[in-house]
Amino acid sequence: MEGLIKQAAKDIAERKYAIALTGAGMSTESSIPDFRGPKGIWTTNKKAEAEAYEIYGLFLKEPKAYWEKMLSSQGIYQRFYEEMRKAKPNTGHYALAELERLGILKYIITQNIDGLHEKAGSRKVLEYHGGIYKLRCTSCGSRFGTEEVSLDELPPRCQCGGILKHDVVHFKEPIPSDVREESEEEVLRSDLMLICGTSAVVYPFAELPIMARFGSGRLASSLYATGHKTNVKILEVNAEPTSLTQEGVSDYLIQGKTGEVLPRIVEEVKRIYSPFAT
Ligand code: NAD
Repeated sequence: MEGLIKQAAKDIAERKYAIALTGAGMSTESSIPDFRGPKGIWTTNKKAEAEAYEIYGLFLKEPKAYWEKMLSSQGIYQRFYEEMRKAKPNTGHYALAELERLGILKYIITQNIDGLHEKAGSRKVLEYHGGIYKLRCTSCGSRFGTEEVSLDELPPRCQCGGILKHDVVHFKEPIPSDVREESEEEVLRSDLMLICGTSAVVYPFAELPIMARFGSGRLASSLYATGHKTNVKILEVNAEPTSLTQEGVSDYLIQGKTGEVLPRIVEEVKRIYSPFAT
């Protein structure tokens, strides 16, 4: 592992525009379970998974019933979001925040909804699947802090008249176009992608590494077939190999916990940048 950490630090130090893609594995060391790891929420609770697939349909059909479900103290959402609100960032989140402060990491695109990157001090964060601290207007796309909106009358509404939903993107719900476009721009601008704690099975997020590796949009899928690669470096830090590892989308995997591996990479990057480095 030591050799790979040195390699990762060297790759990061040599590149000009590094971004990170993060997933639920980043926050398991903050005691928030992931979905698909061995102790994951879906792995251990199939009923909750089935329910999660239906919640967006309920919003479209009956927004009041959706909100009642979201706010029910008996339901999975209140319990899960409450756990997240209590959680604190771990050493992995702080390591990425430090890479941003050093001017090396330009953006984090996260699937996580827990807000822990911001709590750790990262400023440039795109929440691809939304966040638990916000509501979003389904007409004009405006976001509001949860404390700004009264939930006395359901469903809550925006000043534009549109219905507000939780900002968290549910299964079957499209990614908000502003976040999706900005994420794709960052991916295409990057020359290094550090992918941390994601099984990379949730689409369209899982397309982002493929877009970086093989080019953009439809072109990417045809280049994928021919094996053509762009010269972006793609590194994974994950507890287990993923489809990105197996299909050669990433250049290499550092297998381990993000809370342990990322601080070691940052220490090594700082050593390389130090004026006394040998
Ligand atoms: P996932 O559950 O599908 O995969 C997590 C991956 O991280 C697995 O491969 C697992 O082995 C690995 N992992 C677990 N702990 C790790 C650690 N300490 N260090 C390194 N790797 C570790 O999660 P996903 O790919 O993010 O996709 C699931 C969806 O679940 C996303 O859409 C996300 O929005 C949502 N989700 C978010 C949170 C959160 O906000 N914290 C938590 C659960 C699920």
